[in-house]
Amino acid sequence: MATYDFDIGIIGGGAAGLTVAAGAAQLGAKTLLIEKEEELGGDCLHYGCVPSKTLIRTAQVYHLMKTSTEFGLPGVKVPPVAYADVAKRIQSVIGTIQEHDSEERFCSLGAKVVFGSPVFSDDHAVRMDGETYAAKRWVIATGSSPAAPPFEGLAHTPYLTNKEIFSLERLPQSMIILGAGPIATEMAQAFRRLGTEVHVVQRSGQILSKEDKDMADLVLEALRSEGVRFYLNSTVQHISSHGEDSQEVVIKQGDNTPVSLKAEKILVAVGRSPNLTNLGLDGIDVAFNRKGLTVDDRMRTTQKHIYAAGDVTGAFQFTHAAGYEGGIVVSNAVFHLPRKVDYTWLPWCTYSDPELASIGMNEKMAKEAGINYSVFEEAFKGNDRSLAEGERVGKIKMLLGEKEKPIGVQILGPHAGELLNEWVAALNGKVKLSTLASAVHPYPTLGEINKKVVGSYFSPKIFSSKVKKGLKLFFQLKGRACEGEG
Ligand SMILES: Cc1cc2nc3c(=O)[nH]c(=O)nc-3n(C[C@H](O)[C@H](O)[C@H](O)COP(=O)(O)OP(=O)(O)OC[C@H]3O[C@@H](n4cnc5c(N)ncnc54)[C@H](O)[C@@H]3O)c2cc1C
Repeated sequence: MATYDFDIGIIGGGAAGLTVAAGAAQLGAKTLLIEKEEELGGDCLHYGCVPSKTLIRTAQVYHLMKTSTEFGLPGVKVPPVAYADVAKRIQSVIGTIQEHDSEERFCSLGAKVVFGSPVFSDDHAVRMDGETYAAKRWVIATGSSPAAPPFEGLAHTPYLTNKEIFSLERLPQSMIILGAGPIATEMAQAFRRLGTEVHVVQRSGQILSKEDKDMADLVLEALRSEGVRFYLNSTVQHISSHGEDSQEVVIKQGDNTPVSLKAEKILVAVGRSPNLTNLGLDGIDVAFNRKGLTVDDRMRTTQKHIYAAGDVTGAFQFTHAAGYEGGIVVSNAVFHLPRKVDYTWLPWCTYSDPELASIGMNEKMAKEAGINYSVFEEAFKGNDRSLAEGERVGKIKMLLGEKEKPIGVQILGPHAGELLNEWVAALNGKVKLSTLASAVHPYPTLGEINKKVVGSYFSPKIFSSKVKKGLKLFFQLKGRACEGEG
């Protein structure tokens, strides 16, 4: 039997790779982790979730300062934003989290960390900087990069992606954002709030196109009301540069009218491509396509001892999905437990203000799957805490399937991502709706909306005329004391 230096080798030190490395090393597997950048942490820490949420919070505070009169406070004239200071705050948050994702920490857990760009020399070994590293099992967790769309002129025009946007030296006066997915939407609002004039160009007629239109439109309206300009049903015709801080994007709108948009900067956020180049995959029979590596439900590639996890599979490009998949890899590759992925209750959230958080199926998905469903809704304007907070926009939607079991929940409103966590627990734990409805929630909290939407399912059943008739008969209830309407 062949022997290898390592039990498991992992390529990529982001959310997925770090989860596998920590799990495998702590279970006693001799673990090798290879990262091409100078530090561990991946996109989420350096160019994704962490900097974006830090920026969003800064922009939110600035927005609150500018809207102080809405809270009965004196109006404040706020000075313009010094983006270098914002970027400094972002780097300081990254730096704090970096300690947790350091080489030293992984070494203390038992994993060997090496930095460089490995190439598979055969299906059990990689070559890097003149050395060969052989492992019994491998995990490819190289993540994804911003996709570069084939727009005419883009290749000759300076543009920003999530790699540059968090470390700019000064706030752009104006920005054209190409795409209207979660990253584009979050950045559009954050930069607008900081003072940038923002134009968003979207090919389809809806932003956040995976979401139900009614929910996405509420986000659209919220951003429009803050001054973000949207160009929906618009295709990019040509992009050109007239200097370092003078870019032009010519778009064609639904009615075929060409419109010229000019701005200091262009941010490209039209999707992600898997990081698969220069790994030598062609030579080792590992199948992949444009979207990512082909994996089965145990996260094995077409070479059964080579696993993949995270964005590189092209499935659910979220940090928590990468971590979940990393855990599945550890079960299969280290524990030898044949655990399969199940994305039924994988939640996600767009951190716009208001946030849009989802779990399970929305109406779009249920229709596509041919599932009959019913929808129950409650609005945040009926939630006392929401009103106290000055939040009036948004609603919760609960979808019940054919057997009146929940198939999905979407929340658009303040702290929706946090509110969704009750559903994460309830749905994973198969908690009965009646339990949620009867559980006492603290007043006044935003979370009461979860209980209320379940109540809206039970109310017509409890207060039906049949029940009323029965009670009247058995307990001689006398009925209405007032004949007013309602
Ligand atoms: C702006 C933005 C905001 C986001 N916000 C959120 C959010 O709020 N919530 C959320 O859940 N997700 C968010 N995401 C998505 C999240 O960042 C990714 O889903 C997550 O980082 C995927 O983890 P990963 O381990 O697959 O990839 P990564 O974290 O990118 O890690 C891959 C690692 O592999 C390394 N690597 C690449 N190629 C090689 C190679 N050839 N050799 C060695 N190493 C290599 C990379 O340097 C990197 O360190 C956001 C993404 C962006 C861009």
